[in-house]
Amino acid sequence: MNHPAVIAPVVTLDNHAFFFDVDGTLAAIQSRPDEVFIPSSVITCLQKLSVGCGNALALVSGRPLSELDALTAPLRLPLAGVHGAERRDVAGKVHCISLPDEVSKSVLQQLRQVLATLPGTLLESKGMAFALHFRNAPEYADEVQDLAEKMVMQFPQLVLQPGKCVVELKPKGVDKGLALHQFMQEALFSGRIPVFVGDDVTDETGFGVVNALGGVAIKVGQGQTQASFRMDNVEEVHRWLEKLTSQLHQDTTFIGKELR
Ligand SMILES: [Mg+2]
Repeated sequence: MNHPAVIAPVVTLDNHAFFFDVDGTLAAIQSRPDEVFIPSSVITCLQKLSVGCGNALALVSGRPLSELDALTAPLRLPLAGVHGAERRDVAGKVHCISLPDEVSKSVLQQLRQVLATLPGTLLESKGMAFALHFRNAPEYADEVQDLAEKMVMQFPQLVLQPGKCVVELKPKGVDKGLALHQFMQEALFSGRIPVFVGDDVTDETGFGVVNALGGVAIKVGQGQTQASFRMDNVEEVHRWLEKLTSQLHQDTTFIGKELR
């Protein structure tokens, strides 16, 4: 069987900036979001990589900043949380987009009411965004989707963010691509080539920004994507991190597969 020629971009700690999604990328998906963890060996790799690339490493996730800090303790990395609605920049300053209180309260109340009638679904409030999980109740996927669409029609400040076994309501104008772009304006990141690894629909805006900047966009797992490279699963991401950090300050060849 013939394999297409793979053009392996050389990723170096001196020239690249690194962005990682968390769930499904650095951490295996679990049945509940609060069961997710990043193995300590991977946190050690992130620390080495961050130091090795002059701290041009950030996480870009749908989780709130507080959860990202807890998942990566004792590290304190630049972070974008809630799909970019929260961002802690290189200097440690937090930029946050919020909803009017009355909107948050009303959305939360209505979501609670309906999801209480759909056993196994899980409501996660992030303050300015709301995740409607149905991983443990896939039979209610349509009902959850309908509910989310109704809320978006009722509250024009919100937009839908689909994901794996989850539908989220997030503030309009917020996405991972914008967060990544904002990081790339900062001194530690600018002038470097971005590498972004992510697994879900929400990561596509990030891949778009990375592609526009001539960077390396890596999709984890199956599914349509505008990323140019793919890794099979979280374990492959972990192996790649090990390889990158075991060759600090040496050129490291990318080990994923080219998509086109
Ligand atoms: Mg993910």
